[in-house]
Amino acid sequence: MNNIELNRFWEKVKEELIGNLPESVHPWVYSLEVSGYDKGVLTVVTGQTMAKEWLRKNHGEQMNNILQTISKNKDARIHIIYDENAAIKIKKEVAKIHKKEAEAQLKEQAMENLSCMQSSANLNLKYKFENFVIGENNKFAHDAALAVAKQPATKFNPLFIYGNSGLGKTHLMQAIGHYTLFNNSKLKVKYTKTDDYISDFISNSRKTNDSIENMSKFNKKYTNIDIILIDDIQLIESKEKTMKRMQQTFDTLYEKGKQIVITSDRLPEEIPKITDALASRFKRGLMVEITPPDFKTRLEIIKKLAGNNDIKAEIEALEYIAKHFTNNVRELEGAFTKVCAYAEFNNKPITLELAKYILKCDENEKQITFENITDVTSKYYDVDIKDILGTARSQKIALARQISIYICRELTNQSFEAIGEYFNRKHTTTMYAYEQTKNKIDIKKDIASAVREIKQALKVL
Ligand code: ADP
Ligand code: MG
Repeated sequence: MNNIELNRFWEKVKEELIGNLPESVHPWVYSLEVSGYDKGVLTVVTGQTMAKEWLRKNHGEQMNNILQTISKNKDARIHIIYDENAAIKIKKEVAKIHKKEAEAQLKEQAMENLSCMQSSANLNLKYKFENFVIGENNKFAHDAALAVAKQPATKFNPLFIYGNSGLGKTHLMQAIGHYTLFNNSKLKVKYTKTDDYISDFISNSRKTNDSIENMSKFNKKYTNIDIILIDDIQLIESKEKTMKRMQQTFDTLYEKGKQIVITSDRLPEEIPKITDALASRFKRGLMVEITPPDFKTRLEIIKKLAGNNDIKAEIEALEYIAKHFTNNVRELEGAFTKVCAYAEFNNKPITLELAKYILKCDENEKQITFENITDVTSKYYDVDIKDILGTARSQKIALARQISIYICRELTNQSFEAIGEYFNRKHTTTMYAYEQTKNKIDIKKDIASAVREIKQALKVL
């Protein structure tokens, strides 16, 4: 019998032993190792003296019977010997198992702590760096966020991430939080939406009549941390008292060498009625913009989404979705989810046909250009395009210019810099024009209807 045959034979015998002997002795049986089989004598080794004695005395005969049946040799018998080396080996194995168990327990504990920290920090589990697709549109912002996560409060403080809605600001900001909690669990992270901060501040002021003691409790809540993530800061506009309080929160954190990360859907100077003091604090560190993703990045994002959720889909279907949802990743994800849901409810594969059927995107939709916009606006106001792009200051031309700029920003996904270049103006001027028009739409009916009609005309071009 060679070694392989011997081991196989022993496995068979062992199986029968386990099947027939009482459970109390199973650990001893498992600890036996085969050493040889010669002239009907099967020699097995144990590292436990107790096992040898007990098995031999109490189960020796039964064990021999089992071996005799299997080997078809009525004289066969099992010979158990004690070996110190085997004892050492067993000890080592037991220690290894204990170590593994202890490690697993520690890991479990750490994961539990982590998930506890994540929820107390208010973080969404999906918003991690590994789920964030990097493209031309967000690379700078991503790299800055990662640098901040790796070395908080050293270089870019505060980090100010801005860009339109649905482009990944919250995701990136929370990724910093996850990274920190995972890699440096000693640091305290707090994610807070600006509207929550505002209502917290207001309710606190009401309850406490601004008493120093209670206000200091509020302060502690927002300053007794290492990294604060404040989302959608533009919502603070016009809230004078809250702004003052936030200014103090910032100063305290900054002086204590803590990291501040802020997101906003626009630049600080574009936030109406924000105090200069607060805006200048936002600008003290690094400001990075996220713009809409290009086709390649959009496709990567839905591929990743499909992959993460184990969803199989025809690539043409994904391309179709990526092609038609250009401005907003949230909407891109929404379109994909809608197609998946329909496919699942109707038990159908995700194909191009299905995506077309569900989303009904207009295949012939044309990209609207700056030229189209100025052209239609100039006709609407009966002014020359070259005046809109030039320096003329008459009221009518200035209005046509502002409205063109506003619609360019709304309909083309282009940055204020690009718009400024086309209109021969600084990007801050285009931002101002955009903001002015946006405000006027809310209060002036004629402006609102001009914008609506121009947009309508552009759609049927
Ligand atoms: P914002 O805060 O800018 O409005 P979010 O961070 O809420 O946008 O992003 C909207 C959705 O799009 C989220 O589900 C987010 O995970 C997803 N998303 C945005 N950008 C990316 C990206 N680059 N990679 C993966 N998912 C993204
Ligand atoms: Mg957000």
